[in-house]
Amino acid sequence: MDREALSELERAAVRSAFHGEENDAIAGISRALASATDSATRCELLLDRAVAQQIDNDPHPSARDALAAVEAAEAVGQDDRIAAAAAVAAGFVLRTGDLDRSVDLAVRALVILSETPPASAPASVMRAFNALSVFFSRLAAFELAVHSARLAWDVADGHDFDPSTRSIVAYNVCSCALERLRAPDCDTAEVTDLVTAIHQSIAYLSSDEPSETAGRVVAPTMAAELALLGLGDPMAISTLQALDTDTIDAPPQMWAWHLLVRSLVASRADELQLALELVDDALVTLALPASEEHNLLRAMRHRADLRRRLGDFEGAADDLEAVVERLHRAQVDQVGRMSAQIRHRADSEIARTRVRREASVLAEQMALDEVTGVGSRRWLSRMVDELTSGGGSGALIMLDLDHFKAINDTFGHRTGDEVLSRVGSVLQSTSRSGDIVARFGGEEFILILPNGTIEEATTRAERITDRLRTLDWTDLDPALHLTASAGIAAGEFEHTSLLFELADQRLYIAKSEGRDRVVGVPGPLQATRRATSPSGAVSSDAVFSEAVSSDAVSSDSVSPLA
Ligand code: GH3
Ligand code: MG
Ligand code: MG
Repeated sequence: MDREALSELERAAVRSAFHGEENDAIAGISRALASATDSATRCELLLDRAVAQQIDNDPHPSARDALAAVEAAEAVGQDDRIAAAAAVAAGFVLRTGDLDRSVDLAVRALVILSETPPASAPASVMRAFNALSVFFSRLAAFELAVHSARLAWDVADGHDFDPSTRSIVAYNVCSCALERLRAPDCDTAEVTDLVTAIHQSIAYLSSDEPSETAGRVVAPTMAAELALLGLGDPMAISTLQALDTDTIDAPPQMWAWHLLVRSLVASRADELQLALELVDDALVTLALPASEEHNLLRAMRHRADLRRRLGDFEGAADDLEAVVERLHRAQVDQVGRMSAQIRHRADSEIARTRVRREASVLAEQMALDEVTGVGSRRWLSRMVDELTSGGGSGALIMLDLDHFKAINDTFGHRTGDEVLSRVGSVLQSTSRSGDIVARFGGEEFILILPNGTIEEATTRAERITDRLRTLDWTDLDPALHLTASAGIAAGEFEHTSLLFELADQRLYIAKSEGRDRVVGVPGPLQATRRATSPSGAVSSDAVFSEAVSSDAVSSDSVSPLA
């Protein structure tokens, strides 16, 4: 299925959700799913179907689809998709009653979102925030719900999402904000802020862009809600009363909410009988498990009030008892408190992720030598450990700059550093992938050529010393001249410590023979010199045996990296 067809299908799904055409959407998505093979497409389709299926009062199919979408997103390996799927799954899994799992999913989404710039994946980020706002609403954590919904709106608005999607997000902002306004701990500053957000959403919903349902039903109902709270234009109440909605076909949940608000308006005008009829109608739909718990509770409390005012005390008591029962069952207050813990857990999870990332950046930094840009000694040590345990064989070059102390003394330490840095560049530019190039200390470097022979390493070292000898240093100082010496060894990596020892001894020979040279397999002359050198601690047999055998390694031989 091509991308265009997919996005057309997605738009259709969103339109359906806003217009109550879910069954068409579900059938269409299921057909598309049957032929979708790549995980990214499957993920999108599964999420679309999860959302479309919420019309069903059984949350399990939606939860299953959303969890399958998480798996598909994991298969693609895209964090933003995982966040979107996990956030949608959190809402549905919560409805199945598995609180722990839903919290895990929400935390996972929040952690990823904290690391994902919206512009990098607007569609996923918007979807994730919108889903989280639904999740938090269900937990009666409206402060968090509003926050998430507004973030979703910012993304949808900033990236020119299609009108249907923006309508849904605007509706979400409004309904969460209205609930939050009803909370006793909402202070003046927050009230002002929420009212502004609601006004913005209403302005969008009643503009030309969104659907008829949004403009004719949702916007005026929102405005009336705000007026009922004493926070909006009182005219909105009479506008709602005058509204002729006979010709409008809104999805059931939206319609039920509209009827509830109409009932509240009628009750305000003392039209108690009409108000009761309206809320009875609304409750038919609101009592279904798929509906918003807070609207159901509002409707039942409201009906209890109406019944009391109409003298039906028994009916009022029944309603209130049902409210108490529901509150108890949902433990809304407790769950609301728990949402703070979710936020807290997400925060600490986010902190942990950051620390982990910082640690890995630090590890990377520690692997590099700052002055020369080649591998650090710490990194070399790790690589050598790996080579030693991994087996195989190769060649090792130990390179030391000649009379470097004199360069420092003559031209200054700063120039010395610059020289080291350029030597690092030469080493890097002459190395091949798979080579290990590191600063061993001071002005000494190690190159390891896995599978390299002593001849190859000698050629390489000569190329390097040639390059260093002929480097143009005039920009630093015309009098500057640099040479280097190298010792080479080759053999089994099992005995890396011996390779280091051999190379070190050959480097010593190169120095003692006048510097600016490479010593690989030493000739008889060198052997003679070495044998007479005052520090000749290693027998010439071991020194000149390239076929290093395990027998040759004395148990007390010390690795230069130990
Ligand atoms: P040789 O030819 O025998 O190797 O002589 P040398 O002067 O190079 O060797 P020696 O070990 O006597 O001196 C090494 C010098 O390298 C001493 C030290 O100041 C200098 N050095 C070590 N690390 C750095 C560094 O990071 N920056 C600078 N500028 N100099 C360094
Ligand atoms: Mg030196
Ligand atoms: Mg040195």
